[in-house]
Order: sequence, then structure tokens, then C-alpha cells
Amino acid sequence: MQMEDRFLRAIGFEVTKCIKKLEGFYTSMEEEKKYELLYKVTSHFHSSIDTDGVLKEIIETLRKTYPDFQYYLLLSNDYTKDNDLPVRELTYDMDLESSASTQAYLTGEVQIEDHLGEKRSILYAPLKGKQGIYGVLKIVTPDYLYFPKKDVEFFIFIANTAGKALENAQLYQQSRKLNSDLQLINSTSQKLNSNMRLTEKIRYMAYKIQQSFHADEVGFVTYEELSSHNVLEGSTEYFISSESSALVHYALESISHQEGPLFISDLEAKPIDHVLQYRSLMAVPMKDHEHISGLAIVLHKDPYFFTFESFKLLQSLVAHSTLAFANSILREELEKAVITDYLTKLHSRVHLDECVEKHVKHDENGNLILFDIDNFKNINDTYGHQVGDEVICQVADIIKTVIGDQGLSARWGGEELAVYLPMLPSEEAHDLTEMIREKIALSTSPAVTVSCGIAPWKSEWLRPNRKQIVQQADQALYKAKSSGRNRIVTAHPIKEKS
Ligand code: GH3
Ligand code: MG
Ligand code: MG
Repeated sequence: MQMEDRFLRAIGFEVTKCIKKLEGFYTSMEEEKKYELLYKVTSHFHSSIDTDGVLKEIIETLRKTYPDFQYYLLLSNDYTKDNDLPVRELTYDMDLESSASTQAYLTGEVQIEDHLGEKRSILYAPLKGKQGIYGVLKIVTPDYLYFPKKDVEFFIFIANTAGKALENAQLYQQSRKLNSDLQLINSTSQKLNSNMRLTEKIRYMAYKIQQSFHADEVGFVTYEELSSHNVLEGSTEYFISSESSALVHYALESISHQEGPLFISDLEAKPIDHVLQYRSLMAVPMKDHEHISGLAIVLHKDPYFFTFESFKLLQSLVAHSTLAFANSILREELEKAVITDYLTKLHSRVHLDECVEKHVKHDENGNLILFDIDNFKNINDTYGHQVGDEVICQVADIIKTVIGDQGLSARWGGEELAVYLPMLPSEEAHDLTEMIREKIALSTSPAVTVSCGIAPWKSEWLRPNRKQIVQQADQALYKAKSSGRNRIVTAHPIKEKS
């Protein structure tokens, strides 16, 4: 609104200046009439930013003043959608037909063509604003050998008024666009820098881009090598489906060749190894030092859909969001590293501890099982440490396969592993443990066995704490070892506080 006021005031100032100058010109009655009309046109500026309204009034004024002349507005841009206005496209050819209008447009000088043979004159007055020329006012006089010179000044004034109206509209639109672009970048940056997960951030950005650019599909992909990319969760449906992979591959290849963003108005002409339902594409690389290599891709079904302005805005948006994405990726990798054991890829002990802590507080029952590989020192001594590591991994894989998603498997430390089975009767926990024990004895190579200690708990006996459960499992494991190894011992249920 402030912007609008400023423009209006500036235009008002200009116009008042011109009116004052004109006051001197028009003294006769006829000229007073012109002056009145002019006043009407220019005063319109004070109340409206509506270009069509001003242009219409200008044309009407001209028609009232010289009804037998023909008037045309030759415009260099798409300023008006009004079909009643005598708007023609301004062509830039230097051929005979349009050379005078081109001349007026390029030099900013009025051009007059007196066609003696056809008994008509044409005046071309540039529609001049303060910052540029926005078109040409073409006036054709029938049956005049020469253009009425005394009125040229009047027409120049009118053309300048129109020029300022167009300039005003253009500046107003640009400033509104700039404002809304900045607001979009600002609001998305703020949101993305809050504590969101990567998937939420991607989903939010995809939604924002769909909304702002009227895009059909928005995808974010990361890649280590061009041949294999990973579509980030939160991208829109098309990208999640495998259908998109040929297109993503094409975009990645193109980006790698030109090392910059990609703007394709019509994909139909491109050599893509797939039938595509999308025609317009914008793709912007996401780069943040060494942390992230990715691409944001925006699609629309229609060809020539996106404007160059939206392409530039997309680049700003992606540049502003890449750091936020990289932060989430790093944080999530770190979180994963903390809860994962580097050798076996089972969960870490810390993570298992946290889970048990939570479960014993809220569940009704559960089981903690500890496994310790028997005589493992011998394996290391006989085959070396590396084979020892491989055996630990074999045991871990067997445990993971048998347990599946019924519980949580973790590396307890060294060659000791653990499983927590929530909400499972102790008999079933025993059966699963037996399955694991047998499988390990049968399928490890070099063959090893494990001893197992199970600590079941039930809230109806007594709600224990994590430490008590671990202690029970430990004692049961010790018993399994001391009673001959390769066996399972289930601890007595905890019924009293220790
Ligand atoms: P048992 O448990 O049957 O009493 O005998 P054990 O020989 O397995 O004895 P213990 O559990 O006390 O020893 C575990 C050995 O496992 C000690 C250590 O050298 C070895 N070890 C611990 N962690 C690793 C590991 O990550 N890799 C390898 N290769 N060896 C490990
Ligand atoms: Mg041990
Ligand atoms: Mg051992």
C-alpha cells in the first residue's frame, strides 16, 4: 500500500507540473475544453492504479477532441486484457510499414508521416515514462495533407500520460511481485530452520513450490553418482513412483553437463527414454559444500508453463533451503550412528537401554535376553581377530532374522548380544531364543555356540526397573555358562524389590 501511495504521489506531482505548463497553452474556448478533458484524464491517476481505466479515458479524450481521427496503442508488453481498447502489438521491424513506429519507440521522438498521395497523415508519439518507453500512440488523420502541428504538443502530453500509467502499472506489479517473492523466501527459510525432520522439510517445500508456481509435481533427489539417485521422502507422488526415474536421470545428466540449473519449456523434444506426461521442467542443483549433492525438480503438464521469473525465484528458494536440508541430513545420520553398532549394524546398547527403560514403565510384560558366544577367545586365537569379527556378524544376522520386528536386537558389547522382546509371554520368548541357539550352532562357520540368559518380567508380579532386569538376565547367563554352555537359562521372575 505504501508503495502504491508513493507511486501515486510521484505521478500526481508530475501530472500537476504538466497541467501547469499546459495552462499557458490553451487559452481559447476550444482549448479550454481540451484542458478540461485533460484534467479529467490526469485526475484519474489520483484515485486509481487501474491501467485499463486510464488508457480508456485517454482514448475517449482523444476521440472527443478529434472524433474523425483513428487512434491505436502500439504496446510493447502485455499491459492490458481489455478488448475494447484499440491495442496493437508493437513490432520492431525496420520495414517500411512499421519503421516510423519503431523509430518513435527506440528514439523517444515523435514521428510524423505525411502521405500526400493517400491524403493522410500519421503521428507516432512514444508512450514515455520516467524510466522507459512502453509503446507508441499512433494517430491517423484522414483527409489531412499535413498533421495539425499545433496539436502535436497536446498529443505528446497525452502519450506521456499513457506512458506514465503503463510505467506505474509495471512498477506496481514488479514491487508487489518482489514483495511476495521476498515474503515467500523469508517464511520458508524461517520454517525450514526450525527443528523439523528432513521428510517434513521436504514435504513443506514441495507443498510451497506447488502452491507458488502452480506446479504439478515437485521432487527432491540426492545422489552420490549420477547413475544412482535417491528420491527424498516428502517429494510428490510422481517422484516417489519408479516412473520418474528416466526423467530424473535425464535431468541429472543434463545438469552435470552444463553445471547449472535447467529450464526446459518443452520436454517432448528431448531424448528421454520414457513416455512423459510432463512438458515443462525446472531443475535446480542443491549443493552445500561436501555434505549434499542433490537436485530440486519442478514439473508441469503443459509446455511453456513456467516463466523465467519463477525459474529465478526457484533458484533463490532452493539456495535458501539447501543448508536447512543438509543440517537435517547430518543430524539424522548422527542420530542413526549413535543408535547403531558399527560392526553388526544391530542397535547400540545405549539405544536398547533407552527402549527397555521406556517399556518397563508403560508395558504389562516383556523379556530381556543376553547372548554370549562360548569360548570365543579360541576363535580369535585360532582364526584371528578378523574371522572373530565375522563370526560376531554371523551370530548378529541370525538373531536379527529370527527376531524380525518382534523385538529389538542390539550389540551388548564385545561378543555379547542382546534382544528385548516387549509384550511377549516368557514361553514364546524361550521358543525364539531356542530357535536362535540352534541356528547358531548349526550354521555359523567356523562353528560357535551361544549361552543365553532370559529375564522375563510382568507388571502383575512387580514392576521392575531396567537395572533389575539386566541383573536377572546376567545371572541367568552366568548360570547357563557354568552349567555347561550352549544352553538357555530363564531367570526367576522378579517378585520382590531388590
Ligand atoms: P566364555 O564366554 O564361553 O566364558 O568364553 P570366552 O572365550 O568367550 O570368554 P569371554 O566372553 O570372557 O571373552 C570374550 C573375548 O572376545 C575376549 C575378547 O578378546 C574377544 N572379543 C571381544 N570383543 C571382540 C570383537 O569385537 N572382535 C573380536 N574378534 N573379538 C572380540
Ligand atoms: Mg563375553
Ligand atoms: Mg564369551
